[in-house]
Amino acid sequence: MPDIPFWNKCNNKCVMCTNLPAFARQPAAHYALKGQIGKLERYLKGLGPVYLKNDGSADFVSLTGGEPTLHPDFFKLLSYFRTRLPGVPITLLSNGRRFANAEFAEKFRAVAKPPFSVAIALHGPSARIHEAVAGVKNSFSQTVKGLRNLLSAPGGPRVEIRLVIHKKSAAALPETLEFLLKTFPDTSAYGVTAIHYEIEGMSLANHRKLALKLSESAAILGGCLPLIRRFKDFRLYHFPLCLVRKELRPLCWITLPPEDRVYPAKKCGRCVLKKKCLGLMLEYEKMFGDAELKPVKK
Ligand code: SF4
Repeated sequence: MPDIPFWNKCNNKCVMCTNLPAFARQPAAHYALKGQIGKLERYLKGLGPVYLKNDGSADFVSLTGGEPTLHPDFFKLLSYFRTRLPGVPITLLSNGRRFANAEFAEKFRAVAKPPFSVAIALHGPSARIHEAVAGVKNSFSQTVKGLRNLLSAPGGPRVEIRLVIHKKSAAALPETLEFLLKTFPDTSAYGVTAIHYEIEGMSLANHRKLALKLSESAAILGGCLPLIRRFKDFRLYHFPLCLVRKELRPLCWITLPPEDRVYPAKKCGRCVLKKKCLGLMLEYEKMFGDAELKPVKK
């Protein structure tokens, strides 16, 4: 199933956002309840392509933005998606700020019936670091409060905390993990996913501020191994297996479609890990090349 842009406005201004400002400037009417329902019904009848990303993929749905929780008909639309996609895993991507309202979080927990995940981005262990990425004052306290509300009781959707790694967040990664262990010590209640940033949209426009090689990102993660081991469910997205420590390789997932990835023949062609490896993100390879890759021969 596809990535579905649920709402095109956002209340954060993240430096590494994969959208361009033109997306938020589109008329909100394009994402209104009736139009969204029409699109999904066309998709379910096979009258596609309807969605721009992953339109042909059939096993899960990502509800993206903008910030989906700002949709004026958020609960009606969420309930519609849940009802029309029974049994299909749905992931809602959010900055988590609206969940700082306990009533909103409680209503969400009731509507987001399994299989359902809510993935919330945290950019650092403090307001200073988080807000230097999110671009909005007080966004750190709201995101953390949102997480607290979502994790306030057992049951409800799976909560995933997403840590996007780039130059502005990478150095603080050990402190961010320590912050999570201290603030949310029951690590069986949520998952953590560390993601090497994608080069697209504002992330491409701001690339001089963000540029970080995969080998640098992987080295920082390697140094965090003792902390990472303390989480029950820790995942890594967008990492080639040859760049991460052996102990971290089982945590690597392939979540990008084949058209967004490459396996440079001179490197990956002779690597025994290729079948289980993401390779390189296409846009990363264009920007940085493949010199870092170290094929594994046995
Ligand atoms: S050399 Fe290529 S296939 Fe092998 S681990 Fe690295 S990126 Fe993956």
